[in-house]
Amino acid sequence: MDASELPLVGGHPALDLVNTVERGIPVPGSEPRDYVAEPAALLLWACRAGLIDDLDAQAVAETWDRDPGAAAVALDAVRDIRESLHTALLAAIDGADSGAALDRLHGRWLAAAGRSRLTPDPGGTSAVRLVVGIVPASLVPDRAAHAALDLLRTADLGRVRRCPTESGGCGWIFLDRSRNGSRRWCRMADCGTDVKSRRLTERRRAARRSVTAP
Ligand SMILES: [Zn+2]
Repeated sequence: MDASELPLVGGHPALDLVNTVERGIPVPGSEPRDYVAEPAALLLWACRAGLIDDLDAQAVAETWDRDPGAAAVALDAVRDIRESLHTALLAAIDGADSGAALDRLHGRWLAAAGRSRLTPDPGGTSAVRLVVGIVPASLVPDRAAHAALDLLRTADLGRVRRCPTESGGCGWIFLDRSRNGSRRWCRMADCGTDVKSRRLTERRRAARRSVTAP
């Protein structure tokens, strides 16, 4: 699986960003897989997640091709936003201190606000539109910072869930939009089914043991 196939299960682009890296229980001696480890993968993912459109993507790709240093800076910024958001969310869920994560997000958001513009919206329902990110080199991190703030400020925390690693889930974070708020797994087809089939195997094994035991 790569950035072109990575499931988008968060229910919000900022949560999909958090889920661009493996969040399960760490395996000793191996780094968690990062699906946006280089600029091209990040760009592909940002398009799929709806942070940018095709026209934006073209402008970003041209800028990053000309200036790989700017691409590397943008990638670092996005990963910083991702990890700060993850820390802030887990802290909010657990009622813990988020440390410097909120300050880091605020700094990223300030930079994004400085690269944004208010434009009149004739014919629209509002007076003006906020266009976030008017510098192609940093468009992806700017949109990511804006999305992160939007999520933290507006999402119902009671509906933010973590795919339960303690029960074999993957640790990805998602918004539970089910009517009765009972969604447990990020992807029933993967995490939920994996766990269920594992439990079934264990039960069968236990049953066999009890049959063959003297
Ligand atoms: Zn999961």
